[in-house]
Amino acid sequence: MKIAICIKQVPDTTDIQWTEHNTIKRDGVESILNPYDVYAIEAGLKIKHETDAELSVFTMGPAQAEDILRKALAVGADRAYLISDRKFAAADTYATGSTIAAAIKKALPDFDIIICGQFAIDGDTAQTGPTIANMLDIPQVTYVKDIESVNEDIVTVTREVEDGIEKLTAELPVLLCVLKKDEDPTRAKINGIINARNAEIQTLTLDDIGLPPERAGLKGSPTYVSKAFRPVAKHRNLPPTEASPESQVLFLYNKLQELGAFDNE
Ligand code: FAD
Repeated sequence: MKIAICIKQVPDTTDIQWTEHNTIKRDGVESILNPYDVYAIEAGLKIKHETDAELSVFTMGPAQAEDILRKALAVGADRAYLISDRKFAAADTYATGSTIAAAIKKALPDFDIIICGQFAIDGDTAQTGPTIANMLDIPQVTYVKDIESVNEDIVTVTREVEDGIEKLTAELPVLLCVLKKDEDPTRAKINGIINARNAEIQTLTLDDIGLPPERAGLKGSPTYVSKAFRPVAKHRNLPPTEASPESQVLFLYNKLQELGAFDNE
């Protein structure tokens, strides 16, 4: 069984900064493995422990994104691919999905399962996984809570929906977007870290993946960010925070009374 796991390097901050071009500022910001993708790797490891699956990790990003690929290799991934080329720069989610799909098709044409995280903490669109599935014309299951079983043809998963848990099966090949879990993720052992440090990481460029140049990067991006801003929280009808606790309580009491909260007393 061949599994592709998509992971993303993201700025290590929840305080995202923007460039003057309305793109995310990445220079000078410490980078980490997207916390949700830790669980994409975990899902792959779980299948690997139960079957003879081979795990290939893919990331699209600059050279420094190699770091997260080595982290995945250290905990048990078998192969790693860095999808990297200046021509991929300024990709929106459509171009990112197209590029990753082309890279998987090239490097792992006989894949059985692609696993993505729920979303990336910087872009936060959750569009990349579904876009990859669309580009490869395979089914997708999102909000996957658990992968219950896998055989050569079918995967059975549970997924979290608004009013409960859904159990479903999907034919392979399939793309799964997995949810974050409460469990502690696998820790790398010293041997794993040493092997990962020396492992070969294959770089895939635009020429390697055979995607037409007009489908990649800025040229292949039908959307652009026209404005990026942090919404100002507006607490309408609340007492000024500098007011004394007594007057704030009185204010809230009067508001509740106006709303009829004490009518039945
Ligand atoms: P999500 O879709 O939330 O991620 C879901 C999952 O997909 C992840 O958990 C992971 O498993 C997988 N995944 C996501 N990204 C990757 C990746 N790179 N490699 C491997 N797996 C991945 N970014 C720029 O740097 N420069 C730009 O100019 C730029 N312009 C943009 C314009 C628009 C309109 C938009 C919407 C985004 C733009 N971006 C730009 C951001 C870029 O498109 C996203 O970083 C990228 O498409 C991933 O989307 P996301 O962060 O929302 O990930």
